[in-house]
Amino acid sequence: MTARLDIVVVYPDLLGTYGDGGNGAILARRAAWRGIDATLVQASSDRPLPRGDLYCIGGGEDGPQVRAARNLVADGTLAAAVADGAAVLAVCAGYQLTGRAFPDASGRAVDGLGLLDVTTVKGRGRRAVGEVVADPLPSSPSPAGRAGLPVLTGFENHAGRTAVGAGASPLARVRHGIGNGDGPDGGAATEGAWSGHVVGTYLHGPVLARNPALADLLLGWALGGDVALEPLDDREEEALRAERLSRAGRR
Ligand code: GLN
Repeated sequence: MTARLDIVVVYPDLLGTYGDGGNGAILARRAAWRGIDATLVQASSDRPLPRGDLYCIGGGEDGPQVRAARNLVADGTLAAAVADGAAVLAVCAGYQLTGRAFPDASGRAVDGLGLLDVTTVKGRGRRAVGEVVADPLPSSPSPAGRAGLPVLTGFENHAGRTAVGAGASPLARVRHGIGNGDGPDGGAATEGAWSGHVVGTYLHGPVLARNPALADLLLGWALGGDVALEPLDDREEEALRAERLSRAGRR
């Protein structure tokens, strides 16, 4: 029997500023290359959100981010799908709105979806803009058949700083860049967070083009757990990673 997968890009009309819609295309391609029957749906904010196995929520500006959060809370489908085991990749504005609260343009707290136990406030320092390199933590999830995720590469552009609560785990430790920002203990910054089948990250790129192992982690989750996916020829992706990582290291 052919495996089936419904991949939903959430509100590209509101959260489409940073090219994160590419994550949906990458997931659909990596599934199709393995003979998985994947459908990619661009779910506009003026319609009810469809049920899916894997949701991608991208970055966006402050105003559209607030509208997206309000729509998603009122719609209810995303929370219900996650409760049923759907996987989510949430990037930057998307990451912030899957959390408990995030700031609007004036810094006032707006309710998020509460799918990740993270809280974002406006940073006091400069806006975080530039390349990020982050080392996955030993506790971070692994794609089936691999020992951990490789070093993460992407770029960030955000004002918010995010605290990870006890109900979620940070995804990685920042080697270069800002990520979530300094921890409350003044320790090295972490990047992103995850719990269950939900991953949030500040990394654009799109992140899955630069980190195909993260794409395979999400595909495995969406296919129902520890599905070992057939390896692909990732030489082009590896060349891109090497080029981006060496540039970040030179700054
Ligand atoms: N508006 C949010 C911030 O500045 C998210 C920005 C983004 O998605 N790149 O923190």
